[in-house]
Amino acid sequence: MKVFKFGGASVKDAAGVRNVARILEKFAGSQLVVVISAIGKTTNLLEEITLRYWNDQGTELAELVKKLKDNHYSIVNELVENNDEISGKLQPVFEKLEIALATPKSDNFDFEYDRIVSFGEILSTTLVSAFLNSLGHNNIWLDARKMIITDDNYREGKVNWEKSVSNVKKQVADSFNDNSVQFVITQGFISGTANGDSVTLGREGSDYSAAILAYSLEAESVTIWKDVPGVLNADPKFFSDVVKLDEISYEEAIELSYYGATIIHPKTLKPLQNKNIPLFVKSFYDPSSSGTVISSSIPKNLVPSYIFKRNQILITIFPKDFSFIGVDNLSEIFDIIFSNKLKINIMQSTALSFSICVDNVEEHVKPAIDALAGNYKVKYNDEIELITIRHYSQNIIDKVVQGRKIYLEQKSRTTLQLVVKGFFKR
Ligand code: ASP
Ligand code: MG
Repeated sequence: MKVFKFGGASVKDAAGVRNVARILEKFAGSQLVVVISAIGKTTNLLEEITLRYWNDQGTELAELVKKLKDNHYSIVNELVENNDEISGKLQPVFEKLEIALATPKSDNFDFEYDRIVSFGEILSTTLVSAFLNSLGHNNIWLDARKMIITDDNYREGKVNWEKSVSNVKKQVADSFNDNSVQFVITQGFISGTANGDSVTLGREGSDYSAAILAYSLEAESVTIWKDVPGVLNADPKFFSDVVKLDEISYEEAIELSYYGATIIHPKTLKPLQNKNIPLFVKSFYDPSSSGTVISSSIPKNLVPSYIFKRNQILITIFPKDFSFIGVDNLSEIFDIIFSNKLKINIMQSTALSFSICVDNVEEHVKPAIDALAGNYKVKYNDEIELITIRHYSQNIIDKVVQGRKIYLEQKSRTTLQLVVKGFFKR
């Protein structure tokens, strides 16, 4: 069994949906589980819909729902002339959405967000599944909310692995029991609580869904189909001399995605590494090209890669009472970091101070600094960039630092991380 994941860009219009069907056709003989994200920018639109619902802005809400419908029906109309079959499948989904939007809201925004935003993936998979059927590709549509079970930490559900594995195994096996079934089609990004409420796994979470399914099924491989040829060694927005990495290790891919490469959702790799399932990143424009493979084997040619994580803030904390930084101070500091949801990307301690480089999210950072200011002197520096270089050399360091001031540096044999002032200029 293999797992394929198609992101929103791959199905953004009728040509895209046709292209996905063409790729799938090539694999019609093997048992294939296909994970699909919401079409194009649908999730953003549904986020706006959720806000209007939450703020009781009925008129704007209706307009946005109309836009959502138009986006989907225009793809359907362009796909097939006589499309009653496909439209007939979408219509009850839109009805359910309208009922959901007419239901009085609770006092939990994140709960409402997941209840509404999850419709994006339900719509896209319903459309693609019906289109494949119309081409004669028998497939089964499975509701990921009934397979992947998470807690009720809405917008960032935490997976219940035991329940999810057993659901996924059973429902996918049952689907392929019928030999005429070529594909199982299911949604990325969404899951459900044990009580049946909708949950999402965090923005761009469809890669992670593919990994959860592959882990559960002990799949042969996962392929993420993208609009780029594979994983690149740097961001082409900043560098003109980027190269595609043919193969990289799980460890390298985890580090790159965690520290800012946006190509794969950072949570994706760990479950795959655990079961030694290779991950292919391939271009949906050029499906027969090799792409990148991420696996446990260490490639022979270690191409340097470098990524930036922008919008960081470096916070340095000094005890006011002239004491050294010890476990007692750190434990107090970490309590504050944890309760204010700061995301630490790098930390360093000296005898007299403790420094952290965190994502500069104002609503988290400001209250944290205020809380720290009680017992500590706090200094901070914003407009900071965190640079991560794998397989570094002095040449690359010079190239990415651009003479900027380096505040903090951490080094292992393979990875160098630098906290620098200002942002890289192209
Ligand atoms: N549709 C969701 C998003 O746009 C999930 C994904 O694309 O992976 O965030
Ligand atoms: Mg997306």
